[in-house]
Amino acid sequence: MNNWKIYPLYYGKLECPKDLFTPGIDVGLMFWIPYLGFLLDNGQKKLLVDAGINERMVHDGKAAFGGFLAEGSSKHVSDSLQKIGVKPDDIDMVLYTHLHNDHAGACHLFPNSVHVFHEDEWANILDPLPAQRVRTEYDMEIVPVLKEMNCLKISENIEIEPGIKLYKTPGHTAGSMSITVETGKGLYVLCGDTALLKLSIFTQMDKMVLMDGSELKVTPASGFYKFAIPSGITYDFYAWYRSIALLKALVKDPKYLLTGHDPSQLNKVFPE
Ligand SMILES: [Zn+2]
Repeated sequence: MNNWKIYPLYYGKLECPKDLFTPGIDVGLMFWIPYLGFLLDNGQKKLLVDAGINERMVHDGKAAFGGFLAEGSSKHVSDSLQKIGVKPDDIDMVLYTHLHNDHAGACHLFPNSVHVFHEDEWANILDPLPAQRVRTEYDMEIVPVLKEMNCLKISENIEIEPGIKLYKTPGHTAGSMSITVETGKGLYVLCGDTALLKLSIFTQMDKMVLMDGSELKVTPASGFYKFAIPSGITYDFYAWYRSIALLKALVKDPKYLLTGHDPSQLNKVFPE
């Protein structure tokens, strides 16, 4: 086992209805979720997972995505790194779970890093589906920025560093990836927004830990939702269910699943 450490990074937050993530369950319930990144550090290399949201995607306290109340900026990204003593230039690679506006918006902060994403995700951002355009899911201004960067577009599942593997897990977007991280205490799986919350996969959870550390009672899924709950932001359900089957094979315990927006992951270092 490799000895990577995982530092969740707070990039801002969004208030939205829970049933965006769990359609038909807990309708009317609103909560705040964080925009998240993760620093992976093994003492030799520093890899950043996702690069936050750009200020141009948040107007007057509201996200371009859905008009929900939000905060977030490139400064949140640099501040969150500074808080753990890391400078943007220290980052060897930025690994993108996908290129949605809240995961790649501050890519310009890392001109000296290698930017790693799936080639199908690049195709997706270059030609988003109409529904993806309507919801402003991609920040098109990152395209010319990334074109000037040192990008590595991957096409297969690979071990990109010892102990760090990339798996294509499409469905939320065409080229979504999940990342497995070997630590001294087990294998963690960072799935981006393939599962937005832990309960998307671990559907029998009856509570969530919110950003302030308080607990929120939630309704466990029943019937055909027991296997997994696809969010309202799913473009290829067949691909998504195959991706979930892979994730379920990789991770058996919710504590080892780190998702794109689960509030419980803040203010921690993994392995715990
Ligand atoms: Zn996201």
